[in-house]
Amino acid sequence: MPFRLFDAPPAEPSQFVGFAGNVIDRQAEKRADDSTEKALADPAARLLLMGNGRILLRFAGETADANFTLAEARGLGADVANAVLLGMAQTGPVVAAPAVTEGDGLPETVKAVDYRSVYMQGLIDREALGALAQGASLLAWHANHRFCGKCGQPTEMRAGGYKRLCTACSTEHFPRTDPVAIMLAVSKERCLLGRGRHFAPGMYSALAGFIEPGETIENAVRRETFEEAAIRLARVVYHASQPWPFPYSLMIGCFGEALNEDIHFDAAELEDCRWFERAEVLTMLGRTHPSLFTPPPGAIAHHLIRAWAEAG
Ligand SMILES: [Zn+2]
Repeated sequence: MPFRLFDAPPAEPSQFVGFAGNVIDRQAEKRADDSTEKALADPAARLLLMGNGRILLRFAGETADANFTLAEARGLGADVANAVLLGMAQTGPVVAAPAVTEGDGLPETVKAVDYRSVYMQGLIDREALGALAQGASLLAWHANHRFCGKCGQPTEMRAGGYKRLCTACSTEHFPRTDPVAIMLAVSKERCLLGRGRHFAPGMYSALAGFIEPGETIENAVRRETFEEAAIRLARVVYHASQPWPFPYSLMIGCFGEALNEDIHFDAAELEDCRWFERAEVLTMLGRTHPSLFTPPPGAIAHHLIRAWAEAG
């Protein structure tokens, strides 16, 4: 069945992006205050050890493994008392614990690798990368919410890591996910791509920006596209989403129908922004373009751009 841009695609696009392969049963309705402790008492428990944007991986030749036993985690100095429960995998409970990921105290076979490299280099499989996103986001939220935003007193972890409680004023704080809109504006046979100032040389991508309080996804897509490129959009449709653990975002990918073609891009945010013909985009996706390319296949931007380019 052909995929038409403004119809629902035949296969759910979110399943193909990086960080989306999590198959852990979260058992959200069963989270008790002692659920992490109970999980760690199970000899089958596996721990992901992470902190400061890095995860510990054990290397054996070409392959890397992110799973450690409780004894191994303690041996590596992980902060098991502040571990969070991700849920149940086929192998047993999966827990994420804060760990020291800097310095030279690690054994030769264990390396602290930053999340972006793990994702870009495909060091662990899709399911493990999905678990990494869950653990990294949750641990980063805890690290950033040690004090009550209402009264300023220290907060304590509850519900296996899915809540923090202020024991002074009883306010409950819940993990947050920050929505980011990422959108591909399209006009007849062209799509709009930009270059952020920090991008690798030659890379062009879809525009993106945080969704603001009180705003719909569609309006955020329209606002960001207008602010960054002065392009007005008519119809906006959702395409796919991607968990993005930097530190706890959800990328929401959309297509937008451009109403005008004259670009005035925001030079404070973008180094360049222009229309690309479908044929040129196909060479960028396939890495056969002499100088330009799109983000790699794990990125939601890649999937937005490819879905449009291949729909023609
Ligand atoms: Zn408080």
